Parts: sequence; structure tokens; C-alpha cells
Amino acid sequence: MVTRFENGIVVTLGKNSRVLWNATVITDGELVAAVGDSAEMKRRFPDAEPVDCSGKIVLPGFICTHHHFYSTMARGMGIPGEPAANFVQILERLWWKVDRALAEEDILLSAQLPLIDCIRNGTTTIIDHHASPSMRDGSLDLIEKAVRQAGVRASLCYEVSDRNVIGGGIAENERFIKKVGKGDGQIAAMMGLHASFTISDETAGKCVGIAKDAGVGCHIHVAEDAADREDSLTRYKVPTVNRLDKLGMTGEKSIFVHCVHIDESEMDVLAATKTAVVHNPESNMNNAVGVTPLLKLLHKGALVGLGTDGMGSDMLVQMRCAYLLHRLANHDPRVAFMEAPQLLLQNNAEIAERQFGLRLGEIAEGRPADLAILDYYPPTPLSEANFLGHLIFGLVDATVDTTVCRGKVLMQGKKVVSMDEERLAARSRELAPKMWKRLQEL
Ligand SMILES: [Zn+2]
Repeated sequence: MVTRFENGIVVTLGKNSRVLWNATVITDGELVAAVGDSAEMKRRFPDAEPVDCSGKIVLPGFICTHHHFYSTMARGMGIPGEPAANFVQILERLWWKVDRALAEEDILLSAQLPLIDCIRNGTTTIIDHHASPSMRDGSLDLIEKAVRQAGVRASLCYEVSDRNVIGGGIAENERFIKKVGKGDGQIAAMMGLHASFTISDETAGKCVGIAKDAGVGCHIHVAEDAADREDSLTRYKVPTVNRLDKLGMTGEKSIFVHCVHIDESEMDVLAATKTAVVHNPESNMNNAVGVTPLLKLLHKGALVGLGTDGMGSDMLVQMRCAYLLHRLANHDPRVAFMEAPQLLLQNNAEIAERQFGLRLGEIAEGRPADLAILDYYPPTPLSEANFLGHLIFGLVDATVDTTVCRGKVLMQGKKVVSMDEERLAARSRELAPKMWKRLQEL
């Protein structure tokens, strides 16, 4: 099907990003067929289905490089006992109970609802990190089903750890990686691991072996809290990144999430091995774990992307949070204006390309047809020269009207067409209290 997304302001992004007023994007099947002046596009593609984008800005669909769909049912849940006073207590009292309490239908709904949020926020590609120890085998198939229903793209993995059972989750990753193979551009697979402090050398070795044989990367939380660094220094006599590097976990296809408590030599290892780092500013602030040395990592040439860590699915909000956090943390109002958008717009596209083999994050002929179309009347002139100012101070508050992924319209006029949000949320409200009850008994 050929569609004309016409009469909008198109921001192409990519290497030579252009801002085109009164422009049209033509999609043909899963790809962009042409981009240009609206009158010319109408002449060239008169039979295409028109979608009016006047009063709107057309951007490539956003990418989230670290998410946890499974955290959905924790929203609004009371946690018994004293409030958690540190990161390890947050894991022990909250997340390591939430994941154990999840049953089969919870897993499916816990993916479907944040996927709807992704569509509502124009996020069309997600790299997820899943855990559900009580319903582990087959859990990635449930999430795959939800992703295919939603119509977005996702890379999936199960977070292996030794905390419930030694090597728990290795078989689920291996099975799913084999099933997905090279992927179809919509679903990809990684080898997931929880974190250095919850995996032995033996478990890590098995994971790396499977990942290397299949040619996929490892997706793991790294030095999120000082406890992970201390554990590595105490038990293995090297800092976290060095331990994981020795185990063979670094590399272009791997994703090291957080990297808050790392030193300069670890940053050098990340840059030299081309390992991707994913920064999650809202989550780090929420857990009070510290501030990722973002500017130093970028300066050293490390590839750093942006994720939500399950806090939400709005990537523009996350980008602005990174911008504000690093200005404050560095006590310098000159920094992060370029860097925060770079994480979202360029680096996430590069990380996604390593997983999906597709160049996302750019509107150009032959590129995948993934679009986020937002309501936006610029109150000041808008061009390539000042796009980032509009992004950080205007678009962050603009509403996504239409979301397109793989050439299919997933939301139009703010109505999600691929899934029934009202019905799914109602079912989730029925199941969540039962899940909370099971959790209290753990
Ligand atoms: Zn995470």
C-alpha cells in the first residue's frame, strides 16, 4: 500500500538532517519511497492514500534501547514494610518479588499495555529486558505475540541470574535466539543477563558461549549501583566492566545498561570494544543510584544510547531529563544541549541497527517507514539550525497524533488502531490485585 503523509513539517534526521516545510513522506509497503515538496509528491504519487499532516511535524519513530515491559503491574502497588533505603533493598523488596509473582496472562498484559504507551508516544522500536522466574519458559513468546499485535519492532531477551536457580533463564534465551535466528526486521533476540553481582563466572560463561555461537550480543545491567562495583572488586579483584570484558561479554552487539559506577579505565574498555552503553536518567534519579559519567563516556568515544528502564515509554521526556540532569550534575549550563538529543536521535539508531540490521531513525528513500507525527505549530522560525531548541523546549510537550511502523498506521488521530486499550487495561485492573496478593505472600 502506498500512502502520502502530506502537508507537514518533515524533519529527516540522519547524517544530513533537513527540515522541510509543507512536505510529504511517501511510504510504499514497509519502506519510505520518497520525501519532498507536497505538490510535487502529489503529482508523482496521485493514487497514494492521503493522510493530512498539516499542523504537524513528522519525525522518524523514536527508539528506546532499554525497557522492562514486565514492570507494568507494579504501578500503584503498596510495598509492605519499611521503605527501601538503598538500591539492593529496592530489588529485594520490589522487583525480585514483582517478577516472581507474574503469571502467564500477566506477562502478556504487562507487555501489551506498555506497547500501547509506546505507540501513544511514537516509540516504534524497543529493546526489552524481561524477567518472570515463575513462568520463565515460553515467556519471550508471549512478549513476541504482544509486539506483533502492536505492530512495532522489539529486541527481546530474558535476564539470566543465579538468584532463584543457578543459570535461570539460559535455556529460554537460547531457545528464543534459535527461533528468531537472523530476525525478520520486526523481532530480534539478545542474550539477557541481570547483572554482574547476580551471576557466577560459570553462568556468565554459558551465556557468552551461546551468544557468540549465535552472533548476538549480551544485554546486562552494569554498575547501576555502587554495590555492583563493590561486589566485583571484592570477589573478582577487578571493576565490573573489566570482569565482564574478561568473560567475553563486551563487543559491538552488546548493551551495558547504566554504567553509573565506573572509572576511566572501564570507560576506555567500553570505547575500545565498541560496547554500547544505555543511559536511563529518570530511573537513576528514581533509585538515587548516582549519575552516569555521560560527558566523559562520549568524550572517550563510547556509544551511549537512551532508555527508560521501564519508567515509561516517552523518549522525548527521557531526552529532556538527560539534558537537565547533566547540566545540574556538571554545574554547567553550557553542556548537554547537543549530547542529550544525540543519545536519542543518533546513538539509539546506531544501537538498533546493530540489533535489527536496519538503519532506523531517518526519513529517506529506501529507509524503514517508521514515523512519529506530532501536533506542532512552531511559535518561532524552525530550521535545521535551531531544531534542537524546538526539540528540547517545544516538541517534548507536543502530543503524538499518528504513529507509523513498518509502513502501517498504528495510531491515527490519537486513536490506537492496532490494540484495544480500554479492554486490555480493564483486564489488567482485574489481574493486578491478584498478582499483588501473590507478591505479599512471597
Ligand atoms: Zn533495567
